[in-house]
Amino acid sequence: HNDQLAQWDRENFFHPSTHLAQHARGETATRIIRTASGCHIEDRDGVRLLDAFAGLYCVNVGYGRQQIAEAIAAQAKELAYYHSYVGHGTEASVTLSKMILDRAPSNMSKVYFGMGGSDANETNIKLIWYYNNILGRPKKKKIISRWRGYHGSGIVTGSLTGLELFHKKFDLPVDQVIHTEAPYYYRRADTSQTEAQFVAHCVAELEALIAREGADTIAAFIGEPVLGTGGIVPPPRGYWPAIQAVLKKHDILLIADEVVTGFGRLGTMFGSDHYGIEADMITIAKGLTSAYAPLSGSIVSEKMWSVLERGTDENGPIGHGWTYSAHPIGAAAGVANLKLIDDLNLVENAGKVGAYLNKTMHEALGDHPNVGEIRGEGMLCAVELVKDRDPRTFFDAANKIGAQVSAALLGEGVIARAMPQGDILGFAPPFCLTNAEVDEVVGKTVKAVNAVLPAGA
Ligand code: PLP
Repeated sequence: HNDQLAQWDRENFFHPSTHLAQHARGETATRIIRTASGCHIEDRDGVRLLDAFAGLYCVNVGYGRQQIAEAIAAQAKELAYYHSYVGHGTEASVTLSKMILDRAPSNMSKVYFGMGGSDANETNIKLIWYYNNILGRPKKKKIISRWRGYHGSGIVTGSLTGLELFHKKFDLPVDQVIHTEAPYYYRRADTSQTEAQFVAHCVAELEALIAREGADTIAAFIGEPVLGTGGIVPPPRGYWPAIQAVLKKHDILLIADEVVTGFGRLGTMFGSDHYGIEADMITIAKGLTSAYAPLSGSIVSEKMWSVLERGTDENGPIGHGWTYSAHPIGAAAGVANLKLIDDLNLVENAGKVGAYLNKTMHEALGDHPNVGEIRGEGMLCAVELVKDRDPRTFFDAANKIGAQVSAALLGEGVIARAMPQGDILGFAPPFCLTNAEVDEVVGKTVKAVNAVLPAGA
């Protein structure tokens, strides 16, 4: 297609996370997506693809849900917008706040609405700074994040993100953000270490960082229950309880970033439920509306809320607001989406079909000489490609093996994501995926892996 749209796209469109020069030179084509239904998207040429990454792990209920589309349309006709500042709300936003708190862990108290995961994490950091100022500890401000964590692309949230690409040439991370070990057993553990020993190592690294910086300078720790964009890595058994014990000891707050795991992806309503995490704040976005409209939230615990309240008694209204906080269209999408998840038992389905996906992927590719690890939890699965399994040797990044395999898979009609760091093929399908679709995804993945890395070659 060397047509008008392609030209406009090249000339005018600044695409996110893209090699800008290659795009401008026309070396990378833009697929114009026209429509979608269930787990499939279709482009303007009629090419139909099975989307095993649910957009950016966000279209959790699948595409084309008329109930959500109709709720959005009805809201737009009735009231497309009103703000939620002092003394205002809408039926949809108030209802959604109740639905979120009904589903959240019991220590949670209130939800502040934003537009996307990045701004929700910015809100979290501001509220935590405010909290410590009200408590009279102005030095306690640093935030610990993990290498390979993903928390957004803003100045602070891009700093929290522990991927080099998001720091390089941006002068990030900012001083208040510090990083610690990722609970990534396959890559980070010494080959002689057991999982328990590796957890002890993660804990020791965290303790050492806190000792070096001083606990009185550290406000919070942020983590995804399962590392997502950093490689889809479920933590080793015992990781979260051990980390939480350290945080409690040093009076450091915990933010569970559930942008990917919230509302069912692990087969439980929240990842915190799955791992027994007791967070002080929870970040939600993607699955809150299944991406039918942009909406995010910062859920605040009762412990924090009482201090925030006191802060406003002492200082007046809280100076934090977005024009689009609790946008009615996003809220209407959220209400319809959460209802649909309940009505169709999609959380349970994510758990069941996700288990089948992980099992089937193991059976099909577990013995391939270039597959180092297959890992996952719920409706998340990763296939990590290696040059050699024993001794574990990774490919040179310049070979772009992960990208080659995902391109081969795309040629077979299936979308998986080549994760940004390492040769990792990521799967995060919509929750309505069927076992038959799992078989198709796995069968085609085997073909794609073999096409790029012929077994035994
Ligand atoms: N947090 C996590 C765990 C994410 O995966 C993402 C996005 O992928 C974000 C935050 C940022 O969300 P957004 O891209 O909506 O700003």
